[in-house]
Amino acid sequence: MRVRIERAGLTPCPIHPTKARYRRKTGAILALSVLQHPSSRAQSPGGKVPCRVYKCPACSGWHLTSQPERKREE
Ligand SMILES: [Zn+2]
Repeated sequence: MRVRIERAGLTPCPIHPTKARYRRKTGAILALSVLQHPSSRAQSPGGKVPCRVYKCPACSGWHLTSQPERKREE
């Protein structure tokens, strides 16, 4: 199944092709704030809502993730 992600002309990330990619951290944070808005949450009951942004080493862009930051485990 192919997922089309061609938002704002950004090329998909090589390792996260289904994730939206943002060129700037501010853009990612803005998108995050929109997704965290109560009206957005209501549209996806039980769905995961991104909680933070992170810089991707593969594409040098920014992605949103619902995974909490990983703590170092031994
Ligand atoms: Zn990436």
